[in-house]
Amino acid sequence: MNDMRLTVNKQRCPADHKCPAMEVCPVGAIKQEGFNAPTIDYKKCIKCGKCATFCPMKALKLE
Ligand code: SF4
Repeated sequence: MNDMRLTVNKQRCPADHKCPAMEVCPVGAIKQEGFNAPTIDYKKCIKCGKCATFCPMKALKLE
């Protein structure tokens, strides 16, 4: 699990709304500028996978 990394697949993100995954992240590691695809603060991310499970577009992946 520890060598996993959360990735954002910008191709899958419609980038037309506030990223709802920001609210499921327990540590506030997901940031978004405007409606752009979100970015991850890897210093904060604990690789819990909640955002990846949550994102309906499967734009967030823990692998
Ligand atoms: S894997 Fe967990 S800690 Fe990391 S960005 Fe997603 S919800 Fe936040």
